[in-house]
Amino acid sequence: MYRYMKEIYRAHENGLPVVGPTYLARAIGVSKSTAHHMLKNMERMGFGRYIERKGFVLNERGMEEARKIMRRHRLLESFLATIFSFPPEKACMEADKIDAYAGDELIEMIEEKYNYECCPCGNEIPK
Ligand SMILES: [Zn+2]
Repeated sequence: MYRYMKEIYRAHENGLPVVGPTYLARAIGVSKSTAHHMLKNMERMGFGRYIERKGFVLNERGMEEARKIMRRHRLLESFLATIFSFPPEKACMEADKIDAYAGDELIEMIEEKYNYECCPCGNEIPK
């Protein structure tokens, strides 16, 4: 679900409020039916609404969750870029692998120590 939330959040940032399974399948590298299935699941979990033939729209709770997930991801990729001098793309890729598992305490420590405003690609870190 993390990958989906991040892609939906990015789409929002880019002015795309409704995100369909085709878009997500391409962005995440899964089949369209897998993406469709996940969006239906996310609707059941109370994160938004899936409109057939259109796509997924986050509700307030979903947006809050997506913001939280993106914050973790961007703090981690900023941290990886600082510590290992990873280029932005590599930092993002490595953060994708661990952001779902990092503990809240670690995330808070990174934020306190570095106080990042933007991720290595220059996107704002949601508060
Ligand atoms: Zn990233």
